[in-house]
Amino acid sequence: MMRNNPNDDRVVFFDVDDTLLDTSTFAETARKAAIELMVDNGLPLDKDEAYGVLKTIIRQKGSNYGKHFNILTEVVLGHEDPMLVALGMITYHNVKIALLRPFAETIDTLIYLKSQGYRLGVISNGITIKQWEKLVRLNVYSFFDEVITSEEVGAKKPDKLIYDVALRKMNGDPEKSIMIGNKFKEDALGAVNAGMSAILVNSDVTEEDRAYIRKEQLDITIIENIGDVNTIL
Ligand SMILES: [Mg+2]
Repeated sequence: MMRNNPNDDRVVFFDVDDTLLDTSTFAETARKAAIELMVDNGLPLDKDEAYGVLKTIIRQKGSNYGKHFNILTEVVLGHEDPMLVALGMITYHNVKIALLRPFAETIDTLIYLKSQGYRLGVISNGITIKQWEKLVRLNVYSFFDEVITSEEVGAKKPDKLIYDVALRKMNGDPEKSIMIGNKFKEDALGAVNAGMSAILVNSDVTEEDRAYIRKEQLDITIIENIGDVNTIL
């Protein structure tokens, strides 16, 4: 791994899900595979219905809740079915791991940023070990000096606190540091509010958001693809 000057106060922070990797697509595929096996093994719903119930449970409990499949069997059968829960969990897990890979341009972009002397960190609304696990499985963990999560800080993006903690931990100068993420509010507005600039990739940005960026002259750049970061930094 390339060594950067530890005193360099230019830090590029990344969001993880749907920024470094296509989390939404692989999670959906893995959930559908799990449902298919549960239905084939006796969960008495059709697959689309069962997937709909699962999505509702995930929306209610949050994606980091560990017992979505338990609740699914409870809701459908009136009691937990350990065999179906195990089938669902294992299928979800195996498919997810099989599909987990970074976007095609992620690694080239990380190498490029290191070559430009930036230090790299992660700011994520998530669970610390789960996010490190993704970085390890993607084999990109050695690019990053720190992973700052909402679990650890006790505040979620776009709260300024998580950005302040991240900058402090990495000795970053906010004026020279950049947040790269996919969510307008959490990643871009949060970072700008903490004095940094932001780059949005694969974003959910609306025409209204774009107008707001122009009106307030916010330091937010919108690009299609993480591979285009090198046209800005
Ligand atoms: Mg994200």
